[in-house]
Amino acid sequence: MKVILAKSAGFCMGVRRAVETTLDVIQKEDTGVSTFGPLIHNPQVLDLLDKRGVKVLHDVPEHESGTVIIRAHGVPPAQKEKLKMAGATIKDATCPHVVKVQVIIRKYLKQGYGTVIIGDRNHAEVEGLMGFAGSFGQVVSNQEDVKNLQLDSPYIIVSQTTQDETAFEELSNMVLARFPGGKVFNTICDATHKRQSEVRSLCQDVQAMVVVGGKNSANTQRLAEIAEGMECPVFLVETEEELDLDALAKYECVGVTAGASTPTWMISRVVRILEAIPSKGEGRLKHVFKKLLWLLLATNIYVGFAGSALTYTAETLQNNVPEISHLLVSFLYLFAMHNLNRFTDRKLQKFNDPLRAIFYEKYRWPLLVTSALSLALALTLVFEHGIKPFFLLTGMSILGILYSVQVIPKSLIPNISVRGLKEIPGSKTFLVAVAWAFVTTLIPAWSDSHNLDLSTIVVLLFVLLLVFVRNALFDVFEVQGDRIVGKETLPVCIGKEKTLLVLNIIMMFLLVLLLLMPLFGLMSKAGFWLLPGIIYIIGLTRLYNRGKISQGPKLEFCLDTVFYLLAALAWLALL
Ligand code: SF4
Repeated sequence: MKVILAKSAGFCMGVRRAVETTLDVIQKEDTGVSTFGPLIHNPQVLDLLDKRGVKVLHDVPEHESGTVIIRAHGVPPAQKEKLKMAGATIKDATCPHVVKVQVIIRKYLKQGYGTVIIGDRNHAEVEGLMGFAGSFGQVVSNQEDVKNLQLDSPYIIVSQTTQDETAFEELSNMVLARFPGGKVFNTICDATHKRQSEVRSLCQDVQAMVVVGGKNSANTQRLAEIAEGMECPVFLVETEEELDLDALAKYECVGVTAGASTPTWMISRVVRILEAIPSKGEGRLKHVFKKLLWLLLATNIYVGFAGSALTYTAETLQNNVPEISHLLVSFLYLFAMHNLNRFTDRKLQKFNDPLRAIFYEKYRWPLLVTSALSLALALTLVFEHGIKPFFLLTGMSILGILYSVQVIPKSLIPNISVRGLKEIPGSKTFLVAVAWAFVTTLIPAWSDSHNLDLSTIVVLLFVLLLVFVRNALFDVFEVQGDRIVGKETLPVCIGKEKTLLVLNIIMMFLLVLLLLMPLFGLMSKAGFWLLPGIIYIIGLTRLYNRGKISQGPKLEFCLDTVFYLLAALAWLALL
């Protein structure tokens, strides 16, 4: 099925800010962390925060010693004061757009203006705004409310930030018709405006619309209402499990959008399930091809062959003739280790990619047995090439298998946060790159037929950095999910923007290496030929940043294809 994902789908600035503030506080604070009211309108995210120890306060407690986070919707000023009096440390994550509305109300209240808030009476944001307007505030949610409105002073009209544009215009015009002279402030935020306009235009290009978000999220509901108003069939779901696959199967092209509090990993899960539905108009060949591709990715066969391709490139860069056995060792080792690692990372897998998690559960034993046999065969093949590469590969395999194990027991040293390799922030990104570099470059160079020289070191560095970029980009794609479950990848530790900056610098450095090293005789002339491969990754990163390609199998395939592309370019250089 063809799926068109709305560019604006997912966390808006305010929600992202509130979630990140909470996650930062969890990381730093030893005392209790709570949010005043549910942080966002998404039960799945709330569930994960609950597992990380974040309590939800529904009333102001008498005593509170921990940190209380004020959510993006804001609170009435009196409530904030009460929280302070109770002893809580306040972290105010009110969205700047909501703060802007609060400031407008406060300013005009001082000048004697009343406030009409167009929005949902029971919504937390509106309750907070009413706290600023006091007895001079009134809420208008529908035409009936306009009829009951009583105004005897100059007044302003503001909007709940997530209000529907058309409803706001209609209701504010009605208020103005009854009480002329009011000052109108359209305070609907940009994110809401963009999201709603996108749904309106998307509805014209698709046959149905899937809206992902919390059932109690007002802005999610509104997106569904807008799509319905456009006479587009709507499927409103909180998770991928609620998708009505039979009903959806009759469409060839559906649109997907999501509320401001829907995390990207949840949207990706829905998109992946939808993409897997064979649509009526899709040719059989295309469907089989897509299935095959997914299988190659899910079984890590594609990544294994990517390793062989990289070995071929590394050998060519060192002016060595690539040996089939070295290509085979890379395939067997990477196929085995990536599969074994999937099993140790099952919790996160279930969460980031449920289809793949189901696949691993279903084919658990065949995959485990094949991986173990592959690893044994890789070690046997390497043994034929010498004792040094054999010990190196054995050490790498043990480290790989022990990666997720907590080697320092709590009973022995209770007060440390790092108990195993996995718990060292960003370790996986780097260690996987080291493993790839060793198996594709160092082991072939160390084997009996070749010598280790300066050229090997340069190529090893090139491969290490290249695979590091690949791994870190995958971490960037999954940063939101990783951050919420507490996985400390590089982008989680230093931020997505800084990671991308580091990766851009590394990619520039790789281009320089490929340009200069052949001139100094430290790489074969094939180095020049590989330049388009690096430009390809830079292009892919740009496409992702501009929202032209989203997280999922397509992106994974495109990223790992760089190794095949480099091998093809290296082969062309030899002709
Ligand atoms: S929807 Fe708009 S106002 Fe509400 S939190 Fe998001 S950015 Fe802020």
